[in-house]
This record gives sequence, structure tokens and C-alpha cells, in this order.
Amino acid sequence: MAIEDIEWAQRKSGAVLEMILGFVIFILAIPLPMLITGPSIPMTLILFFIGIMLFSHGRHVYNKVTHIVWTKQAIREYDDKKTAAKEVYNAVTSNFKCPNCGTLVNLDAKFCSQCASKVK
Ligand SMILES: [Zn+2]
Repeated sequence: MAIEDIEWAQRKSGAVLEMILGFVIFILAIPLPMLITGPSIPMTLILFFIGIMLFSHGRHVYNKVTHIVWTKQAIREYDDKKTAAKEVYNAVTSNFKCPNCGTLVNLDAKFCSQCASKVK
């Protein structure tokens, strides 16, 4: 795994932690003020708000990172296919190239159109 991949994985787990923390704060929004000060509507509302904000931010980051990782993977696969296709192209066209200058020549040509050297 590349260093960059590890970095993305760390960001992803950071986002998951943020989501969990947000969820926990949301769950504790009612009981926590009760334990500390007795029932408090403002504190509960603030904790609800913080919990929802943390959760949705974590979810947003998680989705974004997932999207970036998928896109990078798709680009890598595309590059691999391109390289493979290039190799096939080179292997096929090498039969039709002038041995002297590399210009593509007609199948039935006896001389290269570019350098006039004999082709097979
Ligand atoms: Zn030639």
C-alpha cells in the first residue's frame, strides 16, 4: 500500500471516529445534563446540535474520501489497461515498421516511404 493510500485510510477512520463521537454525544444529550446539573433544555439542545454537526461532518468526510479512493482506483485501472493496450499495439505494429527508421509502411511495400531502405 502506498503512503498516500495509508493517509486516506487514516482520514477515513478519523471520519468514522467523528461519526461515532457525534452519535454518542447525541445519545447523551438528555441523560448527561441530568447527571451534572439536573434536566437542562439549553444544554440538551446544544449537545443535540454538537452531536448532529459532528456526525454529519464525519459522514461528509467519509463519503468524500471514499469517492476519492474509488476515483484513484479507477484511474489506476485505466492506466494499467492503457499500458497493456499500448504493448499490444507496439507488438502488432512492429511487423509493419521500417527496420531502419521506424516509419509505418504498407503491408505490401518493398521500400520505406520515408528513408527508402528495403523493407523485408
Ligand atoms: Zn524507413
